Amino acid sequence: MTTFYNESLSNQDVKQLDRKGVFHSWSAQGSLDPLVIKSGSGCRLWDYEGREYLDFSSQLVNTNIGHQHPKVLAGIKAQLDELATVAPSHANYARGLAAEKILARVPAGFDKVFFTNGGADANENAIRMARAITGREKVLSAYRSYHGGTGSAIVATGDFRRVPNEYARGHVHFFNPYLYRSDFWAQNEEEEGARALQHLRRIIESEGAESIAAILLETVPGTAGILVPPKGYLDGVRALADEFGIVLIFDEVMAGFGRTGKWLAMDHFGVTPDLITFAKGINSGYVPAGGVIVSERISRHFDENMFFGGLTYSGHPLAMAAICATLDAMEEEDIVGNAERIGANVLAPGLKQIAERYDIVGEVRGLGVFQAIELVEDRESRQPLNAKAMGQLKASMVECGLLPFVVANRIHVVPPCMVTAQEAEQGLSIISDALGSLK
Ligand code: PLP
Repeated sequence: MTTFYNESLSNQDVKQLDRKGVFHSWSAQGSLDPLVIKSGSGCRLWDYEGREYLDFSSQLVNTNIGHQHPKVLAGIKAQLDELATVAPSHANYARGLAAEKILARVPAGFDKVFFTNGGADANENAIRMARAITGREKVLSAYRSYHGGTGSAIVATGDFRRVPNEYARGHVHFFNPYLYRSDFWAQNEEEEGARALQHLRRIIESEGAESIAAILLETVPGTAGILVPPKGYLDGVRALADEFGIVLIFDEVMAGFGRTGKWLAMDHFGVTPDLITFAKGINSGYVPAGGVIVSERISRHFDENMFFGGLTYSGHPLAMAAICATLDAMEEEDIVGNAERIGANVLAPGLKQIAERYDIVGEVRGLGVFQAIELVEDRESRQPLNAKAMGQLKASMVECGLLPFVVANRIHVVPPCMVTAQEAEQGLSIISDALGSLK
């Protein structure tokens, strides 16, 4: 029998072996992350040499419920004992149940859940649905965004420079609001939102509304820096989509299912799209899963000539069991409420205090346990902190037992949603010390 754990292994042995598997293209060179992880529980992870880390990354922001949650493991095991394999074309009880539980947590007006294997293929399929229903081709998406690593999803992602041009056909980008580095020279939130909307209107008009199938937008852009949209912006995008008959897709893959302190990030803004894409937090990554939540106004146009997905593993029973168990446990343990409270009472004020102490913290922003600090050379120039210093910061946090999610010049503070106040404070203190140790 294959075993996956061997007491005698060192971190170095595991790293050597893992070079044979590739995550990102650069991991083959071994430069990805300094860590090797053996086991976990809640907010904590351990390596092969017994070192403990506080997980402030939630593993690419997906482990909302925490590691090895007993109720999720039990849910998966119950399905595993019954049947672990099934073709998506057969009726599947767990799939129906998971869809029902998801629909119960979104606003009225949504009636179908189309399951995929993750976030990128959720966005692919949402785009395909929008194109099929409108008969139009173009998709507008934001420069500051991440939508996944496959064909249309990576092209929709703002930074698509590494993607061959043939995939880029029909994709158009616009600037989304980001007051700290405004593209519109705005002085305040209202101005930023209003100007971003004028800009989006101009793009729609110059591209020709009759050619635009969808606007795809992360409700709160995550990898781009946790950019909470200004008041009124999402309402304005909804109004533009309605005015021009464009399908509005909110990508809630990273921000959705508890992370912001509400079930969906869109709940903070009271704006409802036509399609919602999800993955990550839906079952905390215990078994790969994602999907598209479809509104009635879209699903009533579905007909049998439309082809979406066709994914062999779509609605896999183990993934569905993990979704059901995760959503139930989050409800029973008020994990979404915890994310809201820890964000508002510990993380946001704690990060603001850190910003008062260190001039290299340019901005603090976020919702719930979805917070980020943006680091700069100094507050006056707002020049992004150099890569060498960011590398030193990351190494020093890891050295002190904190696993952060660092992107460019930002530390994303994204522990699991069940993080305790004490763990959150411990993490903040490590971040503060790392900033203090920077030479
Ligand atoms: N959309 C957003 C907002 C994401 O953050 C990600 C992943 O980070 C994706 C889509 C892609 O999800 P996946 O990696 O499951 O394909």
